[in-house]
Parts: sequence; C-alpha cells; structure tokens
Amino acid sequence: MGMSAIPKELAKNLRVNFETKVVRIERQAKAWSLWDENENRLDCRLLVMTCPTPQITTLLPEFKDHPQIKNVSYRPCLAVLICRELPFEMEWTAKWMGRESSVEWICDNQKKGISPLPALTMHFSKNASEKYFDSPDEEVFRMLEVSLPNLHRGLNLHRGDFLYRAVHRWRYSQPIGAAIHPPYLYDQTLAPLLMVGDGFSGGRVEGAIQSTLSGLNKWQETQ
Ligand SMILES: Cc1cc2nc3c(=O)[nH]c(=O)nc-3n(C[C@H](O)[C@H](O)[C@H](O)COP(=O)(O)OP(=O)(O)OC[C@H]3O[C@@H](n4cnc5c(N)ncnc54)[C@H](O)[C@@H]3O)c2cc1C
Repeated sequence: MGMSAIPKELAKNLRVNFETKVVRIERQAKAWSLWDENENRLDCRLLVMTCPTPQITTLLPEFKDHPQIKNVSYRPCLAVLICRELPFEMEWTAKWMGRESSVEWICDNQKKGISPLPALTMHFSKNASEKYFDSPDEEVFRMLEVSLPNLHRGLNLHRGDFLYRAVHRWRYSQPIGAAIHPPYLYDQTLAPLLMVGDGFSGGRVEGAIQSTLSGLNKWQETQ
C-alpha cells in the first residue's frame, strides 16, 4: 500500500478539484474568493491552506514576514523511478545509502509489494538534489550510472534495459528545522484563515496530520 492510500480513502466522499492551481485569492470580512488558472471562482467561509509556505506567501504576500512562517524552509528532493522487466538482484527491499552518497535511499517497489513490475525508487541527497534540480533528465540518469558503481551489478543499470524511467522533482520536499509552536497559523482578522501542513511540524505525513488536527481544533474553539 502506498502512502497516498489513507488520504484517498478519507477523501473518497469529498468533492476534490484535481489538477486545479489556485492563482489568486481575495479576502473579505466574512468570505474568501479563489480563482484558478481558467478564471473559475470558488467562494468559501474558512480557507485552509496546506501547501508549502513559499507557495502560500506567493498567494498571500502579506504573511511573508509573519513570525510563524518566515523561518520555515524546505529542502528539495530529486527522485528517479526505474521500471524494467527483469527483477533487480539485491537481497534488500530498501537501503539507506547515507548522507554522503548522492543517492540517499533506494527502494525496490516490487519487493515492497506496491508494484507488479520490478521498479526502483531512488531519492537523491540534499546536495545532489540542489545541484541537479534543474538539469535535464539525461544528465541525472548519467550521474546515477556513475555514482552507484558498487551497486551496478545488483541494479543492472544499463542503458536500454528499462521499460520506463523518470525523474521527479519536489522543490519543497521536506521542511528544515524543528516544529513550530503552535504547529499552524490561524488568523481571524477577517474571514478565517488556517495554514497547516508538514512545514509547521517537522515534516512527514504524521506531522502534516498533527498540524491539521491542532489547527482545526483551534478553529473549532473560535466558533
Ligand atoms: C519523495 C518523497 C518521499 C516521501 N516519503 C515519505 C514517507 O515515506 N513517509 C512520510 O511520512 N512522509 C514522506 N514524505 C513527506 C510527505 O509527503 C509530506 O510530509 C506530506 O505530503 C505533507 O503533507 P501536506 O499536506 O503538508 O503537504 P503536501 O502533501 O505537499 O500538499 C500540498 C498540496 O498543495 C498543492 N498546491 C500547492 N500550490 C497550490 C496552488 N497554488 N493551488 C492548488 N494546490 C496547490 C500541491 O500540489 C500539494 O498537493 C515524502 C516526501 C517526498 C517528496
């Protein structure tokens, strides 16, 4: 089961607008208006924002210097997915390669039980992610082939051997620094605004959940 299974189950009866980027937000005394890239407008009473704080402040620049969010920063993560027909030959399911390695973490998704085909996910270190973030995919693959010589036999990273390979880029993959107290930002000077997410609570899914539950409790107290 992948990481998204729980939110998908929780959201199964909700109306969710996928592939919809909010580009403008307006706040009134008792309501919010949001516009997407196609000029569609959505109004709401409470606005809960869960995106990384740099994306929040792009939409709401007045919060840029707010003490709750001005010190939140994130590290990027470059990840490569490699899928092929023949199984990989390592004895492990996942391996932590260490912070000194360009690739920090490798996981065999078939052994993990989430892929019918042999498929590897590799997460690059902070330094390698920053260095190669804007590089073309081919350069990333080349670097990968060079930087994993000790694992080449097991991984069989040879050109033309793949059914599929792809590079994914997360600019705000993991917050840097400790959790913030309280782990949310709630503002009710006009229509209520709640900012939550892993950036407020030291990272990971459980951090995002804790931040959201704490923030919603706060909002409920004010109702
Ligand atoms: C490669 C990788 C592997 C990870 N593995 C693990 C793991 O094994 N275990 C674990 O606990 N955590 C893991 N994490 C961390 C985990 O994914 C995050 O902690 C969690 O997703 C944070 O949830 P969130 O709701 O705070 O933010 P997000 O999941 O980042 O959600 C924010 C959402 O806001 C959306 N958004 C941004 N801007 C806009 C806009 N303008 N309009 C509309 N929508 C917008 C984004 O598209 C995104 O869907 C991993 C992260 C990465 C990148």
